[in-house]
Amino acid sequence: MAEPNTRVSLWYFLALILIILLAQQYFMTPKTENVNYSDFRKLAESKGVDDLLISTEKIEGRLLPPGVEYLSKTRNDPKLPEKLKEQFKNEPVRFSTIRVQDQDLIKILDRQGIKYQAVQERTWLTSLLSLILPTLLLLGIFVYFFRKIGTGAGGLMSVGKSKAKVYMEDETKVTFADVAGVEEAEEELKEIIEFLKTPAKFQALGGNIPKGVLILGPPGTGKTLLARAVAGEAGVPFLSLSGSDFVEMFVGVGAARVRDLFAQAQEKAPCIIFIDELDAVGKARGLSPMSGPEERENTLNQLLSEMDGFDTRKGVIIMAATNRPEILDPALIRPGRFDRHILVDRPSLKGREDILKIHTRRVKLSPEVNLNTLAARTPGMVGADLANIVNEAALLAARKNKSAVEMEDFEEAIDRVVAGLEKRNRMMNPREKEIVAYHETGHALVAEALPTTDPVHRVSIIPRGIGALGYTMQLPTEDRYLMTKTELEDRMAVMMGGRVAEELHFKEISTGAQNDLYRATDIARSMIREYGMSDKLGPITFERERRPLFLETMMPPGTKDYSETTAQEIDQEVANLIARAHTRAREILEQRRETLEKVAHVLLEKEVIEGDELRQFLNSSSEGKSASGPG
Ligand code: ADP
Ligand code: MG
Ligand code: ZN
Repeated sequence: MAEPNTRVSLWYFLALILIILLAQQYFMTPKTENVNYSDFRKLAESKGVDDLLISTEKIEGRLLPPGVEYLSKTRNDPKLPEKLKEQFKNEPVRFSTIRVQDQDLIKILDRQGIKYQAVQERTWLTSLLSLILPTLLLLGIFVYFFRKIGTGAGGLMSVGKSKAKVYMEDETKVTFADVAGVEEAEEELKEIIEFLKTPAKFQALGGNIPKGVLILGPPGTGKTLLARAVAGEAGVPFLSLSGSDFVEMFVGVGAARVRDLFAQAQEKAPCIIFIDELDAVGKARGLSPMSGPEERENTLNQLLSEMDGFDTRKGVIIMAATNRPEILDPALIRPGRFDRHILVDRPSLKGREDILKIHTRRVKLSPEVNLNTLAARTPGMVGADLANIVNEAALLAARKNKSAVEMEDFEEAIDRVVAGLEKRNRMMNPREKEIVAYHETGHALVAEALPTTDPVHRVSIIPRGIGALGYTMQLPTEDRYLMTKTELEDRMAVMMGGRVAEELHFKEISTGAQNDLYRATDIARSMIREYGMSDKLGPITFERERRPLFLETMMPPGTKDYSETTAQEIDQEVANLIARAHTRAREILEQRRETLEKVAHVLLEKEVIEGDELRQFLNSSSEGKSASGPG
């Protein structure tokens, strides 16, 4: 829409310039009587003209009364004097003639004492060109550059056309039956659905209906889905717009869209306005120094003012979703705006099972498929991941020409989603493979030796994706919200297990432990800085909560509010924790040297060892039975 529009207005602009120029020409150029050159020459000889303006193209001047008489006579037009008098009224009668190359003219003029003067030519055409040409040139350059930007990715000119569209769905056809694992959120949204169903009832009572509902949660947890389900449950239209569309918006367009959205909503009421990815528009003002914050600010301001000027009782609910509530402008979450917050967290074990149930509704499952087991295999995964796994599993089964999706397809799909696509064809040289086998076995043995860590589900040295050369997958038996100090320390010991195994077998270390060290250090740092788990420093937290916008006082991130000495002590304590984890892993593996060798060899051969198989190895060996306690 934007492109034809701008083109049209461009032509309007050009036409306007032309009209102005022509009008100027018409009104500004004095009227003249055209005279042919031979007559002019006669007029000059008889002093019938005066005050000549001579240019290269023509001669203009004043006709004197005798000259008019003469013309009337030579043209055989007795009415000419009256006509001219009529035409020129109170001004002198002017004439004009095309100039002819005439050597004698000046002599005649001098002889007759006629005043003359040379002037620069300025026809209407030249004046037009002198104005139009540069204008055209400028416009051309302008248009050219706009086109150029416009054809680029997400172009400037196409923005208004293709992006930031207001999507209108009269029926979303999504209900709560399509969403699982978010029961609390559903419960909280019931009131809103009631209101949307029968706004009149609430209007009559004058109840206080929330204006704005903000859905918060990690990506892929079903925030968008939930908002659409609310519309579906209430049976009202769903008007949506994504905040990220505003990011590279033309000046004024974002604000206009918001105005549009609210105007449309008024007409459609009762309905839901949904602004997805609110953080893109609602970033705190002045938070990002780069990339034209003004336009977003315009949009945000427009949104705020629309929300303020909005009467909820008309039956319009404004919903928004974000996964970054901490960067939202505080003005957005003030009472009267998005003051109702609904948290959609990662699904629990039960939630994941229910989500899998929903997504396998239309998939033909083999009877042995156990969704509960699959849910247990996917801790931390969100609805979008699970949907992806089901889809992937169905594709895998189809590729193998199966009549139903089997457990093994799901297993493979999970592996794919977890660690990226299997890259069997990526060749590791034998030495590398050996190192990885010992490294992974080290992780697995330490994990099995410690009582608080999750049992090992599978050890693999098949490279997956980028960076991960092998992996040891542990299967948590339950979802965790809290972790004790012992558990964290055990986890760190497991991470150290890989490197320790390398040390023991090769008397040499490799770069393969980089990620383990990174994660272990991360845990150690959190234990000291955030959870106050250091005996030496005591139960103190050194980490400020990084949510400056919910607290009204802003504090620039990275400000330390402890002394340099304390900082050194923190570093020392972190190092101690790591060292202790390393020692523990070493103790465990030194006691299980034989098992380490045995399992690593089997792993080298088979590339994959399942958890149960691993435990059989451990049970058949007599090593380390005494050391399997914590500490
Ligand atoms: P978000 O907006 O939180 O990033 P979406 O709503 O876009 O997540 O979810 C993407 C897809 O993942 C959905 O279309 C749906 O198929 C699936 N999904 C996510 N969460 C759930 C859930 N709680 N129940 C069922 N499906 C879900
Ligand atoms: Mg979304
Ligand atoms: Zn490792």
